[in-house]
Amino acid sequence: MVSEKEGFSLYVHIPYCVSKCPYCDFNSHVVPKIPEDEYNGALIQEMACYAQREDWRGRKLKSIFFGGGTPSTFSPASIGKILERSVSLFTFDRDVEITLEANPGTVDGAHFSGYRSCGVNRISIGAQTFQSRLLKFLGRVHTADESREALKTVHQAGFENFSVDLIYAIPGQSLADLKADLEEALSFHPPHLSAYNLTIEEGTPFHREYRQGKIRNLPEEEEIAMAELIGETLSRTGLERYEISNYARPGWHSRHNVNYWRSGDYLGIGAGAHSYKQQQDNGALGCRWQNEKSPATYMERVLKSGQAVVEREQSDPAKAVAEFMFLGLRMTRGISAQEFSRRFGKKPAEFYPQIRDWLEGGLMEQKDERLRLTRRGLLVANSIFVDFV
Ligand code: SF4
Repeated sequence: MVSEKEGFSLYVHIPYCVSKCPYCDFNSHVVPKIPEDEYNGALIQEMACYAQREDWRGRKLKSIFFGGGTPSTFSPASIGKILERSVSLFTFDRDVEITLEANPGTVDGAHFSGYRSCGVNRISIGAQTFQSRLLKFLGRVHTADESREALKTVHQAGFENFSVDLIYAIPGQSLADLKADLEEALSFHPPHLSAYNLTIEEGTPFHREYRQGKIRNLPEEEEIAMAELIGETLSRTGLERYEISNYARPGWHSRHNVNYWRSGDYLGIGAGAHSYKQQQDNGALGCRWQNEKSPATYMERVLKSGQAVVEREQSDPAKAVAEFMFLGLRMTRGISAQEFSRRFGKKPAEFYPQIRDWLEGGLMEQKDERLRLTRRGLLVANSIFVDFV
């Protein structure tokens, strides 16, 4: 049974960046001067407002994630104020995971030590690639040396738990480039690594250039070869794939993200942040809502009413089933067929007869009561997920 008092995750969105990368469709903004104190004040006010409500009050925090934008544009003092307030508003799981995303070039040793002192216990470093020409193509403001420095310093600051983010399938990237990126990232012995396939999102400068024929995706067979190289290289060093884009040593997966994929409750604060809360005792239905995206308007609204929600959506049963499937199947352990039946009252194949074809075609497999995508299925996961919506 899912109880309202069960643990939840807190997401804190810091929407500011030093410059806008041409492939980025996140809610990130470049401003002449980051209003750090004002924005931090709004975050604390919004969090305190939620904590007064019966449905969040007294609940246990399993994880906190500072994402962006670039959270490392905020000082350890600001991050510390949010954490201090969260301790007074919620109870904390004994093993609470507190992650902060940091971009090389925005942090030094003092920053990392400061984040650690105020309670952050996991850092995610956005290295993306160690090849200078590819960093330039991606419009990243940092250099490969700054990534190396950040990864060295994160160790020195005493962070055992950290992740390296890489991007692959970049136009102009070769298998040799990717091999070099993986080797370099692994030389820092990260317990966790994320490797994201570059996608060209609508509305971005890359999308315009793509439409004008100035940039092209890599051929599909090269992307597949890259995905296989990543899986083989990482598994040789003990980093097992546990989600489409995520690899970790046993026990070092991101608890925060696993909560998303398992359709657990999360509260998002900050400009454009999303939240989700299960609504029935069996977890069959849920409610999602989203905050105002513009940081300036977000701050105004929170100052007036303590909240900045602009969209709210109750999931209907069909949507809830689809979400459970495509979020859960992102993980290599897949979904529990028993949990599915408990939540939705039927077996997965009764909702989706295509599951039988995927099982026969080797894209899916059922082991004990778990249903999951095979290695081949994970390569074409997006085309399978389309069938759920
Ligand atoms: S640093 Fe990250 S959030 Fe900021 S613009 Fe680049 S990709 Fe987007």
